[in-house]
Amino acid sequence: MKVLKFGGTSVGSAARMKDVAKLICDGEQKIVVLSAMSGTTNSLVEISDYFYKNNSAGALERINALEQKYFDVIEDLYSTEKYKNESKAIIKTHFEYLRSFSKSVFTLFEEKAILAQGELLSTNMFHLYLLEKGEDSALLPALDYMRIDKNSEPDTAFIAENLEKQLSLQADKMIYITQGYICRNFYGEIDNLQRGGSDYSASLIGAAIKSEEIQIWTDIDGMHNNDPRFVEGTKPVPYLHFEEAAELAYFGAKILHPTCILPAKLNNIPVRLLNTMEPKAHGTLISMRSQKGTIQAVAAKDNITAIKIKSGRMLLAHGFLRKVFEIFESYQTSIDMITTSEVGVSVTIDNTKRLDEIVNNLKKLGTVSVDTDMIIICVVGDLPNENVGFQAKAVTALKDIPVRMISYGGSNYNVSFLINAEDKKRALEALSRELFN
Ligand code: ADP
Ligand code: ASP
Ligand code: MG
Repeated sequence: MKVLKFGGTSVGSAARMKDVAKLICDGEQKIVVLSAMSGTTNSLVEISDYFYKNNSAGALERINALEQKYFDVIEDLYSTEKYKNESKAIIKTHFEYLRSFSKSVFTLFEEKAILAQGELLSTNMFHLYLLEKGEDSALLPALDYMRIDKNSEPDTAFIAENLEKQLSLQADKMIYITQGYICRNFYGEIDNLQRGGSDYSASLIGAAIKSEEIQIWTDIDGMHNNDPRFVEGTKPVPYLHFEEAAELAYFGAKILHPTCILPAKLNNIPVRLLNTMEPKAHGTLISMRSQKGTIQAVAAKDNITAIKIKSGRMLLAHGFLRKVFEIFESYQTSIDMITTSEVGVSVTIDNTKRLDEIVNNLKKLGTVSVDTDMIIICVVGDLPNENVGFQAKAVTALKDIPVRMISYGGSNYNVSFLINAEDKKRALEALSRELFN
């Protein structure tokens, strides 16, 4: 059974939902993972913000406006009063639930419950639409099978067992609709897989049922060779290796959630990126197959901080790197990039919550300097060292841009550069010119 995920834009209006319904009702059994309608999760973040600030009036105003949007969608989505009324009743319960938070203390726990409402709304509405059309649709409640553990990692055994249970409760349905993004945590509380996490839901579900293919349907015709938000004339990449797609996703290609490739890769399930607005387009096929001798794409990851630790005798003193890494580990901060020399080491991080403590501890090992407002540019493709000159092309493209760190050789699939955030657009454009023209 295939797993098809539709993102926020793909279900962003009544018309878009109808298009999705046309796409999926083809007589093949499938699991359909939906995001919240576009804009909804952002609105829910704003509503939570008002509650955090004890501004119930502000929150209620935003809740009412959002509810009205949903009532408008209902008018256009269903053709019968019966389904309009049924959907309206469901929507009302979700919005009453949102309003109820004006009476309680507000913590991260309440916020997560609020953030989960978007996917619950979209899936319920879409499921009812399929029923109105006479389709054989069933809802799979993600909160009953999707779970993360104490380290916020997916509990794959639990997911597989409980998804199977949910499927068997409604066996032989044609279309199973389920929520992306939302889950429960180790304590059974409502939680989520981080922003953009519906892609991750889809690949976890695909892995759990050993699906033959995971399809990520979005608003663009596949992974482009550069970020279309910054560079004009980017083109879709037809084939990517799992490793290449994982690098691009992790290093900023927004089309995929940073960690969503791993479950597919571990189970060797091909992932297809497709465009809801242009369903016939080839898109991108991500699999074990790599395109030999090709530089495939470029991506950029924002909000990077670089830390340099200089010590007179780094290479002579064995155990130096271990001590550095232990400090980052003890503050649960992961390192993205690393470069070394005889006298020191530079690393980058994107999570700066514990930066002060980390720096204070690093100072025991040497002189520490910190650079903020940096970005990592990642060039991805078939880049083993026998492909002489490939990394040189990327370096040449950046000849007019100050580069703070370069990392090459960690895998056969990427070269990364650390540059100042202000040079992002210029650098991405230069790379497109040099590598893809
Ligand atoms: P969805 O709501 O369907 O999950 P997203 O907004 O999360 O969609 O991802 C799709 C968007 O990702 C595109 O509209 C595009 O602007 C952005 N994007 C960034 N980098 C790339 C890239 N390399 N290729 C394709 N899209 C990209
Ligand atoms: N609705 C969630 C978000 O906006 C998850 C997703 O769309 O993937 O982040
Ligand atoms: Mg997304």
